[in-house]
Amino acid sequence: MKIRILLVEDDLSLREVLKQSLELEGFSVDGHSTLAGARSALAQQLGAMRSPDTFSIAIVDLGLPDGDGSTLIRLLRERSNIPVLVISAREDDHSKINLLDAGADDYLVKPFSIGELKARIRVAIRRQSKDNPGLTDDIRIGALEINLPRRQVKRSGERIHLTRTEFNLLARLLSQAGQVVTHRQLLSDVWGAEYVEHVHYLRLYMTQLRAKLENDPAAPELLLTETGVGYRFCELGAPL
Ligand code: CA
Repeated sequence: MKIRILLVEDDLSLREVLKQSLELEGFSVDGHSTLAGARSALAQQLGAMRSPDTFSIAIVDLGLPDGDGSTLIRLLRERSNIPVLVISAREDDHSKINLLDAGADDYLVKPFSIGELKARIRVAIRRQSKDNPGLTDDIRIGALEINLPRRQVKRSGERIHLTRTEFNLLARLLSQAGQVVTHRQLLSDVWGAEYVEHVHYLRLYMTQLRAKLENDPAAPELLLTETGVGYRFCELGAPL
């Protein structure tokens, strides 16, 4: 069965390019330019549970002619658990963070490549389908081996010592490998809800983790910075 995508983007040329490129990749794309159009498409889907037309993922622009994409994301989060990718311009940083904290799965800053978009779709759908076998076994990325249940990390066969917090931070990022995790989500999950403003903790621990795990800590390939938003562990299984 084809993977069906709900695409909400009011820029006609971008919408058409995305639609055509994704259809070439074998996806089926239902494009809308307004919140109203997307809502009625969703209402039809949500009314027809388990219908073969069910969307597998929503790709949502923030600035839409009849309102903000965030209202759609809230609607989606209340009534379904399909992954949501936000596509937005750089200046929407603040709303982007709020949307991620509110349950959007990931975001892409315009302009982005179709390859990047496909990778994000793949990660979001794989995570959604819980087809995430890497996380209980040994995870291997280049010279690195991570065993989550044993809390062990090795590099080229040599054991690397991580502190409890370093390991917890690594495990949290790995649980969503390939997707951005906001500062607030990381601080809340690793340190606790009362630490969500302590972004300096994160910076410190990310520096330590990179020093231990990256080939070149100044040019990280595993632990990626999403400026102003959070961090992303690279996609597992993707070539470095
Ligand atoms: Ca727009």
